[in-house]
Amino acid sequence: MEEKLRQLQVEANGAIEAAQDVAGLEEVRVRYLGRKGEIADIMGKMKDLSNEERPLVGKFANQLKNEISAKLEQRRRTLGTGAAETEKVDVTLPGMQRRLGHKHPITQTMERINEIFLNIGFRILEGPEIETEFNNFTALNIPQDHPSRDAFDTFYLEDEFLLRSHTSTVQIRLMQKERPPLQAIMPGRVYRPDATDASHSFMFHQVEGLMVDERVTFADLKGALDIFAKQMFGTQTRVRFRPHFFPFTEPSAEVDVSCIICKGKGCRVCGQKGWLEILGAGSVDPAVFKAVGYDPRQYTGFAFGMGVERIAMLIYGVDDIRLFFENDLRFLRQF
Ligand SMILES: [Zn+2]
Repeated sequence: MEEKLRQLQVEANGAIEAAQDVAGLEEVRVRYLGRKGEIADIMGKMKDLSNEERPLVGKFANQLKNEISAKLEQRRRTLGTGAAETEKVDVTLPGMQRRLGHKHPITQTMERINEIFLNIGFRILEGPEIETEFNNFTALNIPQDHPSRDAFDTFYLEDEFLLRSHTSTVQIRLMQKERPPLQAIMPGRVYRPDATDASHSFMFHQVEGLMVDERVTFADLKGALDIFAKQMFGTQTRVRFRPHFFPFTEPSAEVDVSCIICKGKGCRVCGQKGWLEILGAGSVDPAVFKAVGYDPRQYTGFAFGMGVERIAMLIYGVDDIRLFFENDLRFLRQF
């Protein structure tokens, strides 16, 4: 009988080691320690033993029970480790940093531009990116076959619809709906079929502005843009107007600011000129007023438009417009 117990000891140890999960261990426990298990079976037969043998076998059987119990418990802990470990918190580990997102540099720049004009009485208006030919060209004094359409030509959709080439379309929508006085800026995405390179993209962002009332003059335009330039680029910034042609303004000008890098002395960024072109502007052409049903003898106004990417490139010192649209976080995280 002692021989039988030694055999059970070996078997039980092997079974405990072989058990792959808690359910397997429970089977082992029932087989050896259960009420009808192997050890209970031996205990039941002890009455047949001699008086000398009985206490020895009884002692060994009890030792074996305890041993199997201990090994089952030990094995259960080992098997349970996987699940238990993951719930443990190791307070000595360095914390996991979650990087917070932030606004895209183009959005940040556009919001800064909007804020400056909001502070001097302009309101913000938005409009659709899919527009009519009338709103994008005809109403802005750019009739069909006019050569200046080429400069603004765009992506045509079906019928008379197209992707707007400037946010001036929102000016037309505003003037068709409301009467002066009007004072608004129009931020948004615009499209032109330009080949993409370091300074061109087929899609970019604009902020345009419009002011219409009786007796609005070119001096009002200069004043508004001077405030903008000083708040955007610094109080030392100077502004200069160069005569230019736009179909929708007369007179028209391209507007430069003194170079924000060299302060006007001349450097690589400004091409040694000391000036940086930032926008186009002018007095609203009477033909535009006629197209929206205003009397050009009663009302005057000014309009301006700037590329947000251009401003962002100057402020942040970025030399390739494509970087803004590649979604490369290594680039975007810098702003
Ligand atoms: Zn410069």
